[in-house]
Amino acid sequence: MKFTSTRNTGADSVSFGEAVLHGLAPDGGLYHPTEEPDLRALIRSIGADASFVDVAGAMIQALFPERYDAATARSLALTAFPFEPRLTRLEPGVVLLELFHGPSCAFKDFGASFLAATMEEELAKRGDRAVILTATSGDTGSAVAHAFHGRDRIDVVILYPSGRVSPLQEQQLTTLGDNVTALEVRGSFDDCQRMVKEAFLDPELRDAVSLTSANSINVGRLIPQSFYYMWAFSQLKEQIQDELIFCVPSGNFGNLTAGIFAWRWGMPVSEFIAATNSNDVVPEYLQTGKFTPRPSIRTLANAMDVGDPSNFERLVEIFRGGMLDINGILSGVAVDDETIRATMRGVHTATGEFICPHTATGVYAAREHLKDEPGSDATVVTLATAHPAKFTEVCREAIGAEPEIPERLARLLKLPKRSTVVENTLDALRAELLSRFA
Ligand SMILES: *Cc1c(COP(=O)(O)O)cnc(C)c1O
Repeated sequence: MKFTSTRNTGADSVSFGEAVLHGLAPDGGLYHPTEEPDLRALIRSIGADASFVDVAGAMIQALFPERYDAATARSLALTAFPFEPRLTRLEPGVVLLELFHGPSCAFKDFGASFLAATMEEELAKRGDRAVILTATSGDTGSAVAHAFHGRDRIDVVILYPSGRVSPLQEQQLTTLGDNVTALEVRGSFDDCQRMVKEAFLDPELRDAVSLTSANSINVGRLIPQSFYYMWAFSQLKEQIQDELIFCVPSGNFGNLTAGIFAWRWGMPVSEFIAATNSNDVVPEYLQTGKFTPRPSIRTLANAMDVGDPSNFERLVEIFRGGMLDINGILSGVAVDDETIRATMRGVHTATGEFICPHTATGVYAAREHLKDEPGSDATVVTLATAHPAKFTEVCREAIGAEPEIPERLARLLKLPKRSTVVENTLDALRAELLSRFA
């Protein structure tokens, strides 16, 4: 599999390793696969006894046969995924695909961890080192920090806005140490993002330090997200008589795009539902055909507060700018804060279980879909994107109770915080980077 830019699909293609190291195409577009491999035979051969690593290894080899044989693909899957997804039945017709059993307790661990493993591999091949520079408002940074912690040849620098991330998020960013440096910026998340952008454009820094990014548009984060759709499908295919539908809580639409990839490569599902919070640019597009990006609104499902989803470009590319009917496979549902709270409360009352506010948008959308098809035996697999314990305040407010904190998070809360406070200027960031890595 090779990759070209979404902006210029006629240009020369690059290898997976190159796309992973560069993140963004030189013309500012996103890297996108140049072909859609036919994995139908592979999908048929995977049984319900296959583990997640079995499925991931088989897919890595099928997608990148020029890079991996069966053994190296499996060993990459083993290094990248020391954690697994789980399937649980929530209620008739709704199954949760829990993606929060990794180190940072959110689905972003799958993408970040695979990216870290492939980047380390590519740098070793080239005899190079790199510094990952990333700005975070909370969740992405912690997945990246955990995924790259302890990797060879890679240092990680994370900028976060001082006093504006939750205490748990701050502990996730600042307690790892070693090759992970946390810079606590006196400013906002927008300042952090601006500083990172300026650093990538700064000639002095570019000469002295090999900077790269790990953000969610990197194909090294996108591709592995298709593996858990395939795994869930292979687990369920023998039990399911009627339609199988995936419902995906969405913000930047990377997770959904990965599911659509799996479908284009041959996974036989009947539909995808994109669940959003009140940032409803894509549900609106699906209904009206008009894509109108706008500034994001703050909601309870804050990791989905995106007003201009960056993976929309990829979705357009997959549907060949409208030549394939997007409405035939994808529908959208927007869910407001009041409904998010009510859904969290309802699930807790009925089952005693907690779900996070992002997952709640998916559960609500799944139920609405089933309501519209009375008498159908459809199964909606809803992606549970974060552990509810990352959102104790929302749980307390919505439900009046708090979920138990998993051991891996509780442990972090006790570790000493290590961060360097910096001003919100490029000069301050440049000085830090040069003194550490030049
Ligand atoms: C990032 C995130 C999302 C949104 O995923 P996209 O791939 O950006 O659509 C949903 N839920 C949680 C918990 C997240 O961290």
